Amino acid sequence: MNFYTEDELLSLSGIQHYSFCPRQWALIHVEQQWEENVLTYEGTQMHRRADDPFISETRGDVLITRALPLVSYMLGIYGVADVVEFHAVIDPLEKNKIKLPRHRGWWVPFPVEYKRGKPKADDWDEVQLCAQALALEEMLNVRVEEGALFYGERERRVQVKLTAGLRERVDSLLADMHMLFDQGKTPRAKFAARCNNCSLVDMCLPKMKVDDSANYLEDYLANNSD
Ligand code: SF4
Repeated sequence: MNFYTEDELLSLSGIQHYSFCPRQWALIHVEQQWEENVLTYEGTQMHRRADDPFISETRGDVLITRALPLVSYMLGIYGVADVVEFHAVIDPLEKNKIKLPRHRGWWVPFPVEYKRGKPKADDWDEVQLCAQALALEEMLNVRVEEGALFYGERERRVQVKLTAGLRERVDSLLADMHMLFDQGKTPRAKFAARCNNCSLVDMCLPKMKVDDSANYLEDYLANNSD
């Protein structure tokens, strides 16, 4: 098994951008461009509430930690988990359990990712949650079978099983991201319905054809030359 080095780690949150649109991911993470719009602003506000690194609390049989730093050298990712719950183990036959410092008994880790809006038709949120779970598995040396997505607009929590299929999809997306990042490539724009909700649409110009952009550049140079 090959491990990534510190220099090769990619931002874990990029996997949701990549699964939404590889070009969006490349504009943000390869070219480092970012346009904040209402959608991303709302998301940031929700994350601010969840990302307080100093809060940890106990609710009944659940210990809650917030803004837990994550890293996976096997997958080459780093990031922060909004919330990781640790559920007290009642079943003595439970296999996927760990000990925690300063807490008695056994615990099962359970990541919870906060999202703006409502559940989506595609698996963009699930892949991010699964990538977090895979990093937790590597860090805690325990299998994480499920987690949850919390949707702000509906105040609804959706349980997510981390199936073999979802794990394979995350592996494959991350392998593609590392390859593109190494090559420093940004995929071409291709207009689709998703572009209407994309925070980078004004920068990406997905409806502009290659010929249009060449003409635009020509006109610009003609009008701005001495
Ligand atoms: S505008 Fe469309 S093609 Fe461009 S980055 Fe956004 S989703 Fe991708």
